[in-house]
Amino acid sequence: MKTICVFCGSSDKVAARYLDAARATGAALARRGIRIVYGGGSTGLMGALAYAALDQGGEVIGVSPAFFQGPLLIQDRLTRLEIVETMHQRKARMAELAEGFIALPGGFGTLEELFEMLTWAQIGLHQKPIGLLNTAGYYDPLLAMIEHAQTHGFIYAEHRQLFAFGEQPGELLEAMSNHKPPEGLERWVERDFR
Ligand code: AMP
Repeated sequence: MKTICVFCGSSDKVAARYLDAARATGAALARRGIRIVYGGGSTGLMGALAYAALDQGGEVIGVSPAFFQGPLLIQDRLTRLEIVETMHQRKARMAELAEGFIALPGGFGTLEELFEMLTWAQIGLHQKPIGLLNTAGYYDPLLAMIEHAQTHGFIYAEHRQLFAFGEQPGELLEAMSNHKPPEGLERWVERDFR
């Protein structure tokens, strides 16, 4: 993987451990020579990730709709800032540029981006690895929800393998590089004809 797209929280009102995790991820990607694609934001985990990667000499591409222009975006230091018109164009462009996806802790935006990449993988639109950084167990309730959905038959067991899980960035990247797309994805809708 030469380019990874990172989704993460834009809020500044979060505990230092989450900002530290974003910095550690940015630095880990830069040290491995992996280019980052992200939303271009300057705040919260987004800014922490990007500045840490840039400080290590890494490449960081921001993709953002024009309406985020201003202090919400890193204007001066990014390797490249691509301005698109809509949020949908942005997500498609980020997905096109990246060979894998990581979700760090985040809110609605992060969850929405993560789940769109998971649903695209589920129907075979891409086979790129997806990883969740489970800083301090942040994603444990989400994993429990996914297991609940699986128990109730809404998520196929093999689709649980669509994403890797890791507490530390190095461990997560290792799991993602060993990713094998689950078999049987053509059977993404199963009819029960009994
Ligand atoms: P959230 O998790 O709700 O904070 O949303 C974060 C996600 O939404 C990021 O991965 C971005 O793609 C996008 N996003 C939210 N706020 C901004 C912002 N100020 N600048 C750029 N992208 C943002």
